[in-house]
Amino acid sequence: MTSQLPLADIEPTIENQPFWDALRDNRIDLPYCQRCRSFVWYPRAICPLCHQGGLTWRTLPGTGHVYSQTVVTKGTGRWKDAGPYVVAYVQLDSGIDSVDGPRILTNIVGDNALNVSIGSFVCSVVDRSDDANRFILRFALA
Ligand SMILES: [Zn+2]
Repeated sequence: MTSQLPLADIEPTIENQPFWDALRDNRIDLPYCQRCRSFVWYPRAICPLCHQGGLTWRTLPGTGHVYSQTVVTKGTGRWKDAGPYVVAYVQLDSGIDSVDGPRILTNIVGDNALNVSIGSFVCSVVDRSDDANRFILRFALA
């Protein structure tokens, strides 16, 4: 998918490289702490809750719902001409019983993105530049 929203340059680190590798292949892989039974967002080597390493990488289903959202009519900087666009917190499904996925700040994209509301079901999309060298995780209404 390609939206008209700006894409940042990717700067992988040794800690988040598996996330970017999976996203390039249209998957959401995140570190998971067995001790806390929680996913770690943003991807890093140490659990921010219990400070343990040894996290395992798991693939999430790529679905979720909108926890909060707003429509930006006039952005700034590189986003100056992008509006109107949707900025949202999406609560991801974890794919594990009684475990919440992370809640991430993202954009809702697609032709009907402005119809979004709190609670809307969404599916992940990998928004790519025309040359596919830059990409980012965004969501579209399901
Ligand atoms: Zn933990």
